[in-house]
Amino acid sequence: MLTRRSEAVELIRRSVRVIVDRYGSRYWFEKDERREYPVEFVEDLASNGVFGVNIPEEYGGAGYGLFEAAAVLEEIAASPGGMAASNSVHAALFNNHILVKYGRSEVKERYLPDIAKGRLKFQVYAVTEPHAGFNTVRISTFARREGDYYVITGTKTFISRVKYSNLGILAARTTPLEKAPRKTFGITLFLVDLDKAKGKYIRVEEVPNNLRRFVDTNTLYIEELPVPEDHVLGEVDKGFYILMEESNVERALMASQCVASGRWVIRKAVEYAKQRVVFPPDPIAKYQGIQFPLADAWMRLEAGDLLKQRALEAIERGEDRRVAGYYANIAKYIACEACYQAARMAMWTMGGYGYSAEMDVERHWRAAELSAGVGQISPHMILNYVATQVLGMPRSYGE
Ligand SMILES: Cc1cc2nc3c(=O)[nH]c(=O)nc-3n(C[C@H](O)[C@H](O)[C@H](O)COP(=O)(O)OP(=O)(O)OC[C@H]3O[C@@H](n4cnc5c(N)ncnc54)[C@H](O)[C@@H]3O)c2cc1C
Repeated sequence: MLTRRSEAVELIRRSVRVIVDRYGSRYWFEKDERREYPVEFVEDLASNGVFGVNIPEEYGGAGYGLFEAAAVLEEIAASPGGMAASNSVHAALFNNHILVKYGRSEVKERYLPDIAKGRLKFQVYAVTEPHAGFNTVRISTFARREGDYYVITGTKTFISRVKYSNLGILAARTTPLEKAPRKTFGITLFLVDLDKAKGKYIRVEEVPNNLRRFVDTNTLYIEELPVPEDHVLGEVDKGFYILMEESNVERALMASQCVASGRWVIRKAVEYAKQRVVFPPDPIAKYQGIQFPLADAWMRLEAGDLLKQRALEAIERGEDRRVAGYYANIAKYIACEACYQAARMAMWTMGGYGYSAEMDVERHWRAAELSAGVGQISPHMILNYVATQVLGMPRSYGE
């Protein structure tokens, strides 16, 4: 028997699928060719309330949790647009989670209803800086207190969807690293009104980027940006701990998308292989050289799916942050690597056609390459985490 929760997930899947099906291969092919952001697609999702799936009902959202958010992402990723399409929603749902949990009530009342209704796009998450990379404690964008405001100056890079978002979350130092009692202390998260900031306090410069052509990834030059004090998320100077905790949500949701994209490309490759005859009379699907890599990737995706479910469960039940971290990190590693393998093997299965932009698989491959690589966190950093935090071996880097 279906539980009420799984009924909700099924209902969400069906509603999102109706929207996703309106944007077929041709739409995504043209977006790629023109290097355009999928504005119409994102607007359609927004006006149908998809961005409010995990916003509480009291703020005008649907009031669901992370399993339902994952279902939204999976339905989008299992489509011709793949993760190029679902990534635009991923950041928003993850940002919602932070604002709902750490925002002040007045600020939540002010913004969440418009985010839920799709009138405000909340898709920017600005942490990365040119000289800090994965070592977030080294960020140097600084927020100094002036009366009821913080005034922020610094540079962020590789920040996605800035041109198409109204709001974002930005990490800045409020205590310089050299004065902090611990290096993880002194970072604060801010909710930033990008409409007021862009052009006036933030100069946006696109990062040239071929691999994910229509993503809109930018360097932000921030100069004396005033942010009201009540737009601080969580406690001042303790943003790093929020980043760590919330990155579990981000990683688990990324694993969800990878599983969905990986399964989609495998199905597509199987369908193709059953039709394709190279040495008559058999279709290439009969060759074990074609079957085994797809079967192998399928099983790895299944493992990633289970790990991701365990991570989401730990986060939603409020289990120890370390439990959620354990499963979220491993899920991200396994699911995204499996997705990359699946996309690669699907392309090989389809021979030259796999490389054709009109067949959709190479779009999934491009997104999988980033997700399995430096997207959000790299495999290196997850291996570091498992080696040091889980297995207790000494750290090989830094102080
Ligand atoms: C298309 C795109 C979109 C992005 N969108 C956003 C966004 O919206 N918001 C945002 O904040 N960021 C975003 N990023 C940034 C992404 O998360 C960063 O690339 C990432 O934070 C790493 O920083 P870096 O690129 O400077 O790599 P670096 O930190 O310089 O790392 C370089 C390499 O060294 C390895 N390495 C570093 N330290 C270690 C170590 N201790 N042990 C082993 N290996 C190590 C890394 O794994 C990596 O392979 C985006 C990036 C891209 C490409």
